Amino acid sequence: MLRRPHDCDRCGRTIDPGEEYGAVDAIDPDGDLRVLLCAPCAGDLRAFLDGELL
Ligand SMILES: [Zn+2]
Repeated sequence: MLRRPHDCDRCGRTIDPGEEYGAVDAIDPDGDLRVLLCAPCAGDLRAFLDGELL
C-alpha cells in the first residue's frame, strides 16, 4: 500500500494511496530498476511479459 501519491513511471498518472498498483523490482545493465505502475500499465506489462504485446 502506498503511503503517498506516486506518479506511474510509465504514463505519469497519479496513483493515490489505497488504489491498486503494480511494483516492479528489476536489474538492468545500468543497475537497480524500481518502478511503480498504475493498474492499467501493470496489466500491459503482464501482457507484454506473457508475450501478448509486441
Ligand atoms: Zn500508468
